[in-house]
Amino acid sequence: MLQLFEIFMSEKKWFIFYRDEILLTQEKRLPCSPQLPKGLETPHAYQELPEVDGVKNLAVRSDVLPDEKWGYRHVGLRASHDVLPLSDFRLASKARELLHWDEQTRYCGRCGQPTDRGSVISKICSNCGNELWPTVVTAVIVLVYRRSVTGNRDDDELLLVRGRNFPGNYFGLVAGFVETGESMEEALVREVKEETGLEVTGIEYRASQPWPFPSVLMSGFFAEYKSGELTLQREELLEGGWFKRNALPVIPGKVSLARRLIEMWLEE
Ligand SMILES: [Zn+2]
Repeated sequence: MLQLFEIFMSEKKWFIFYRDEILLTQEKRLPCSPQLPKGLETPHAYQELPEVDGVKNLAVRSDVLPDEKWGYRHVGLRASHDVLPLSDFRLASKARELLHWDEQTRYCGRCGQPTDRGSVISKICSNCGNELWPTVVTAVIVLVYRRSVTGNRDDDELLLVRGRNFPGNYFGLVAGFVETGESMEEALVREVKEETGLEVTGIEYRASQPWPFPSVLMSGFFAEYKSGELTLQREELLEGGWFKRNALPVIPGKVSLARRLIEMWLEE
């Protein structure tokens, strides 16, 4: 349960969200103070965050943007990756996920009554006892590569696609959500086939990353091209193709697992 009086006595970081943007100070840092930072005396939702190094940080959803005189910068969560220390970005991502969860679970999905807080990361329905926890949606992202017939690594190729829903003009990797009753490997094979018409083999897990848009766990794999002609699913992809190491188009920013997987491949 949130003990506001106790919480307001100690110095803490504030993760203040207005829509999908996070408020930072002029120095591009998180506001840090015991009390609610200046200019935010308006209705909003609080979400206590799990304790880090003995500090209970707070996430806040503000329904209005503070007046300019208070000097906040507001940047998209994705863009904040480039200005915040990584540990703060990770906390901000968690804060955003928990605020989203809080908003989505005000009422019990079983009986429709308002829910109460159980703990920092749980709620309980006082009417029927239903417990609600933050859910994580599982998605896979896959780097598909094709070895050159010459054996020269500079002639190996990487499959890159440009999705209609990408928030920028760059090429990324095939990705998609894991469906009910599916393993991650099965989801990967299905997504590659659906989006590109290709068959893959040699699936290898490489890395994972929480992706707070709004609450996804991305699991990253490598897979080797096996067969098929590249046939793009036009409802999802604008363009795509095979690229050699020395001729890559614009690739995703450092915030993404796609970028990390591509960099791994480039270094191998
Ligand atoms: Zn209920």
